[in-house]
Amino acid sequence: MPLDSYGRSIHYLRISLTDKCNLRCVYCMPEEMLFRPTSDLMTLDEMLRLVRLFVELGIDKIRLTGGEPTVHPDLVPLVRGVRELGVHRISMTTNGLRLARLAPPLKEAGLERVNVSIDTLQPEHFHRITRWGTLDDVMDGLYAAEAVGLTPIKINAVIVRGYNEADVAGLAALTLTHHWQVRYIEMMPFGEVAKFAQDAVVSQAEIMQHIADELGPLQLIDNGRLDGEAKLYRLKGSLAPIGFISTVTNPFCASCSRVRLTADGHLRLCLLRDDEGDLLTPLRAGASDAEVREMIRGLIWRKPWGHGLPDGIIPLERVMSQIGG
Ligand code: SAM
Repeated sequence: MPLDSYGRSIHYLRISLTDKCNLRCVYCMPEEMLFRPTSDLMTLDEMLRLVRLFVELGIDKIRLTGGEPTVHPDLVPLVRGVRELGVHRISMTTNGLRLARLAPPLKEAGLERVNVSIDTLQPEHFHRITRWGTLDDVMDGLYAAEAVGLTPIKINAVIVRGYNEADVAGLAALTLTHHWQVRYIEMMPFGEVAKFAQDAVVSQAEIMQHIADELGPLQLIDNGRLDGEAKLYRLKGSLAPIGFISTVTNPFCASCSRVRLTADGHLRLCLLRDDEGDLLTPLRAGASDAEVREMIRGLIWRKPWGHGLPDGIIPLERVMSQIGG
């Protein structure tokens, strides 16, 4: 497995298939968004070649994300191709809108599980946050994913002041009736929406208080040992944990094992820093497998230790949908 200069072994790759999305969440992208031309983005063959090189280096866990991965026409063949390269741990983060139709072929192609992003169970609140799409379609997608066994399902929720604080407990209550882990992701500032995200962030303490007030105390699981990037808690009598991913206020940089491949073929070393290396241009210019592998190894070595937010460094080059959440 490739190591960075701090001795962290990197074995987890997140791939953003596209910067396009069929929603416009207020904290993620502006409503009028300029997308990259398709010719700037990796083709299916280019993605699979890069995945093969990452796998040869020791990557054994892959998450497909975006933008919205389900709007990419080659999603199912990509999953099949990644599976054929010997990767078993393939997951996807999706807004769920197109999952009702895609869950069966994705399962058949080899997808292991999904994270579905849902910030509220109230249709009007949903529409205010996402601007487009309907909650019913997302819920249909969620049940379809469960029915075909894309499990364990995790639900990602971002709480935005003035939009969905009132929905915190309703989301947490899902863990009382379903085997769905509900994870609250702290809002992070990026690019054009950085100011909005900073002004509207709701702290983990406040979210926990909402839950405790309405549903009772949260019990810490496993003495607070991180499950991936999430600290897990449980409500009494629940079927699934509740997670908190507080990247800004409670960073997990010491145990970070991931890098990100953006849709335009850049290797992004830290979600919250703009350091990247372009792999697609050399690939298209005819670099050999060995040369590209060396580039990947060299970039991973340069992975920074922590994010720069404590020093006031806000990543401004890209918004989340262009990085791959
Ligand atoms: N479109 C897919 C989805 O909605 O899940 C995948 C991409 S989306 C960028 C991945 C995750 O990032 C979502 O759960 C979304 O809520 C989260 N996200 C987007 N912008 C964010 C921000 N500024 N801070 C924290 N999380 C954010």
